[in-house]
Amino acid sequence: MTHSNSGKNPAACPYCDITTETEARMPFCKACKLSLFYCPACGGLFGRGESCCPHCQAEITVQKEK
Ligand SMILES: [Zn+2]
Ligand SMILES: [Zn+2]
Repeated sequence: MTHSNSGKNPAACPYCDITTETEARMPFCKACKLSLFYCPACGGLFGRGESCCPHCQAEITVQKEK
């Protein structure tokens, strides 16, 4: 079976593709322990270093330490 996989699951870890518990808003993936970031626009998960959300294309402004 080949499903056209257009659009990744916004709740899936961008690193290991395992679906995370977005309700818990974990700052990291339980499976691979890598940091997760949540899109402020759509709430989708994206990986470190992304400049725009892979789900809604919103520009990511990562807040650095002040
Ligand atoms: Zn992961
Ligand atoms: Zn987004």
